[in-house]
Amino acid sequence: MTSFRLYNTLSRTVEPFAPADGKTVRMYTCGPTVYDPAHIGNFRTFLFNDLMRRALRLQGWDVVQVQNLTDVDDKIINRARDRRMTIAQVTEPITEIFHHDRRYLRIQDAEFYPQATTHITEMVELVRVLLDKGVAYKADDGSVYFAISRFPGYGKLSRLDRREIRSGARVAQDDYSKENAQDFALWKAAKPEDEAVGAAWDAPFGRGRPGWHLECSAMAMKYLGETLDIHGGGIDLVFPHHEDEIAQSEAATGKVFSRFWCHGEFLQIDGTKMSKRLGNITTVKDLRERGVSAAALRHFVFSTHYRKQMNLSGEGVEASIEAVRRVGEFAYRLEVATGGTADMAVVAAEAEAAFRAALSDDLNAPEAVAAMFSFVQRSNAELDRRGNDREALAEARRVFALMDGVLDIQPKAARFLVSIERVTPDPAESTLSIDEAGNALWAVERLQARLKARQERDFARSDALRGEVESRGFAVKDTPQGTVLERFH
Ligand code: AMP
Ligand code: ZN
Repeated sequence: MTSFRLYNTLSRTVEPFAPADGKTVRMYTCGPTVYDPAHIGNFRTFLFNDLMRRALRLQGWDVVQVQNLTDVDDKIINRARDRRMTIAQVTEPITEIFHHDRRYLRIQDAEFYPQATTHITEMVELVRVLLDKGVAYKADDGSVYFAISRFPGYGKLSRLDRREIRSGARVAQDDYSKENAQDFALWKAAKPEDEAVGAAWDAPFGRGRPGWHLECSAMAMKYLGETLDIHGGGIDLVFPHHEDEIAQSEAATGKVFSRFWCHGEFLQIDGTKMSKRLGNITTVKDLRERGVSAAALRHFVFSTHYRKQMNLSGEGVEASIEAVRRVGEFAYRLEVATGGTADMAVVAAEAEAAFRAALSDDLNAPEAVAAMFSFVQRSNAELDRRGNDREALAEARRVFALMDGVLDIQPKAARFLVSIERVTPDPAESTLSIDEAGNALWAVERLQARLKARQERDFARSDALRGEVESRGFAVKDTPQGTVLERFH
């Protein structure tokens, strides 16, 4: 077995990785703040986590993954106040959208999705320990802060060299300066605005709410123990979020909090980071409505190494749509083939070796994708030779399933039978409901208008309507059963 290597932000080098117990990888990945639907920049990071999870399992290890949902913070509280809601009323529908989008993108379920607001007890306990040890203090404003000067390891992850460490200068907001390290809030004294939206809890050191960093430390240790194998997130979390998580956790336990720290680079748009704050975001829903399938987005994201920045471009996405179409065609050919050639087994063995080697080398997804496409191309050539070697065919199928089991870039079809009066999913074929198949209701209405136009023998209008539907990424097929609307996802 090739050794598995990962870049560790802590050491700034690629290191051999194996779980501490040799069997199960304990992995914590920072999740979304649920005040607005996650954008595809966030999902680039979550897809990187998904790739890591699947690659670790391919390597033969079990994975226990925890991904938190931040359901109390400044932004959520402000949103709740503006809308005269409770924080739960803000976060519940957004959490649902997150899981919906995540499943649409085929991101495998983590073992745990803990919410901050249901783990207040654990957080209060962690603050109590830090106060007892004298690394935290209660300030005049009633909040509890972590004293960074009392934790000698402070700065080891982000290598605070040029940044000033301003111990004693306090910062209370969740969203603060990226340049200065300051004493950060573990527990924020309750304000009337927090009480009004249901964001305040009792604690021995005063009523209040947890700071953002505290949440991740408390929940990670609850589900995974005091030392994790991997802690991951986007590159912007290195400082202050992860630096502060290390400080809190290690000051409390005296143990290494996470052996590996793995960070994914940003998705950019026109050269700047995609972010809610800049208003340059694209959501999963937007992509669905533009006919970009989950398979195509996965292919697009995995075509760049996770430690390189990537730009969302129309041409790039188009190329991915075309690439996954070829994967789909090949999958069908492989499924209906009755035999292969002896060389197919050789092609499969080489592809598997290249694929595994790529993923073991710091999750080199672009090379893994290349190995899969070379396999598709070479196997297509072998299938053209119409052999009858069934074992070689079985081998090709196994290797294809293994590769697609990690990348998951095979398009799946959703099909609907449309008549003037009704629309029915094709039960044998459909994997998405009409609501999920982005813009399908819009397309169905156009197709029903097209059927009426045809009844009236207005063929020009009928063709125009068909063209409109097809331009949004749907296929339209007239079959003996009627008109079929098809979308790949
Ligand atoms: P948030 O909901 O803001 O807490 O972010 C959730 C995750 O998305 C974090 O791991 C961030 O680092 C990550 N993230 C935010 N913006 C981007 C982006 N443009 N590209 C990649 N990851 C991002
Ligand atoms: Zn976190």
